[in-house]
Amino acid sequence: MAPGPLIYLDVDGPLIPFGLEPSLYPLFGPSPRDDENPLLGRLDPSHGPRLKALPGELVWATTWLHDANDALAPRLGLPRLPVMDWPEPSDTDEADARIGLHWKTRPLLEHAQNRPFVWVDDEISEIDRDWTSGHHAGPALLHRVDPRHGLTGADYRALGEWLRETRRS
Ligand SMILES: [Mg+2]
Repeated sequence: MAPGPLIYLDVDGPLIPFGLEPSLYPLFGPSPRDDENPLLGRLDPSHGPRLKALPGELVWATTWLHDANDALAPRLGLPRLPVMDWPEPSDTDEADARIGLHWKTRPLLEHAQNRPFVWVDDEISEIDRDWTSGHHAGPALLHRVDPRHGLTGADYRALGEWLRETRRS
């Protein structure tokens, strides 16, 4: 059987919302310890079961790198997940930035190797979608999340539908 879809998951924005007045965010316990990132208080642990229920393989795709497994996974009740290691800066970065291509887009496509994937991020644009459709042979959903609210029920429904549909075809 062909391998199922990958789910690349950004943290800042989709799981840790920002952009509103800080006092407007609900805080979830337990409070971050002094040596932890205070933003962890905004992490709603109910994302864990909802992420786990998505029919695909979760991969951290975030600048939190391995801290996502150390700091977030236990709070979410998730196992340790594979982590995207971002490449060193290269000559193409400047050109990509000029056309507005996100710095994650190229590495994610390289990692996916034409496997179906979902990318959940608050910084996705039409440029990333266009580039992906020209450079990725399999199905791909680049799903932009509003960073003020993070992943919502509507986001989870859209992701679940696309993933189930993609597995069927
Ligand atoms: Mg983000």
